[in-house]
Amino acid sequence: MTLCVQSCPATDRPRQKRTASVSNEIPLSLPDINEDDIRAVADTMRSGRLSIGPKLEEFERLVARRAQRTYGVGVSSGTAGLHLALKALGVKPGDEVITPAFSFVASANCILYAGAKPVFVDCDPRSLNMTVEAVEAKITERTRAIIAVEVFGNPANMIDLAQLAGRYEIPFIEDACEGLGGRAGRDPIGKFGRVAVFGFYPNKQITTGEGGMIVTNDDHIARMCRCLRNQGRSVGHKPTDAIPGSELGTWFSHECIGFNYRLTEMQAALGVSQMNRLDELIERRQRVAESYTRRLASNPDVIVPTVEPDVFMSWFVYVVRLNDRFTADDRNTIIEGLRRHDVGAAAYFPVIPLLPAYQREFGFRPGDFPIAETVSERTIALPMFTRLTEREIDLVCQTLEVMLQRASFTREAIGKRP
Ligand SMILES: *Cc1c(COP(=O)(O)O)cnc(C)c1O
Repeated sequence: MTLCVQSCPATDRPRQKRTASVSNEIPLSLPDINEDDIRAVADTMRSGRLSIGPKLEEFERLVARRAQRTYGVGVSSGTAGLHLALKALGVKPGDEVITPAFSFVASANCILYAGAKPVFVDCDPRSLNMTVEAVEAKITERTRAIIAVEVFGNPANMIDLAQLAGRYEIPFIEDACEGLGGRAGRDPIGKFGRVAVFGFYPNKQITTGEGGMIVTNDDHIARMCRCLRNQGRSVGHKPTDAIPGSELGTWFSHECIGFNYRLTEMQAALGVSQMNRLDELIERRQRVAESYTRRLASNPDVIVPTVEPDVFMSWFVYVVRLNDRFTADDRNTIIEGLRRHDVGAAAYFPVIPLLPAYQREFGFRPGDFPIAETVSERTIALPMFTRLTEREIDLVCQTLEVMLQRASFTREAIGKRP
């Protein structure tokens, strides 16, 4: 059974203060916030316009352009964006939506929010994304959408999956929350689906604290999402419409039951400032990934991420996998060991259908998703952020090597065989 190590309580030593200048801790991730970002947010706070304003529009334009899309719709989180994408496509109770077993939980939860049934697909052992064959095998006449994820930022198989969806005329949703700035061939991540969704949580390539963005070329979907994120208000109505003396009725005309999934102007201002540095941020993450791969590729205990030749990765996290000699317990011990030595590490991801809530609700059992399970039991996400230094990368790798040796030694000492 998969264990979510990320949620384990603090271990045997007192917590260190997380002040960057004092602590020796190398965190798993760290947002890259500079003085320009801070100024952009402060300026917006002084502007008097704190929601649904010019910064949101600017941020939407920048992200849409990056994904080569016509429309961007900013929302309060990536998860909210996925929810609205499904609603805008008309997904409803009784429908099935295909989604990866190996992903972050949001790419399945959004299907439940829409009242539909998630149909999970196992992953490809190399890229960790869904394969065309596995998805095709799960298509039925009730399939109303396919959600595909660029796992850890890798767009492998995306072009083929989009083609498959096209052949069956099933709407393709790209959960691009881990892939902003990446490419497959010449096409940017975010361009493959009828709708794509980005996320801006602090561990992503750019952050707005919390936030997300729907991108699409479809004007109906864009309008629906704009309406649904703002309490079902008809598009184009501004808060000033509700000021006494202005035209009656507009701010309080709710066309449908919507949500409050708005992104604030402060968040959008931070997003604009971060988008202006996107290439630089991606390049630094790329450098970190290359250093890890250089250091770890020759270690027989670990499998480093594979990147297809025609893919430009936008690194979300750097995840190594232990080879099959190691068990899930070994992996958990190694993660605990890394953390005890002030190195951030986590198990990315537990298999979604085997999470307790999904097992209870749908009766999934260990063994249902063999590849995702084998992978998930052996992954370790290592620190990944722009300001990680070569010295720190070295320290992470050295600590990992010690923990790997210790785990091998312990296993042999007690005569346990995998
Ligand atoms: C980060 C992420 C999301 C969105 O997360 P939020 O915290 O809601 O912004 C969705 N799907 C995947 C695969 C993600 O990694």
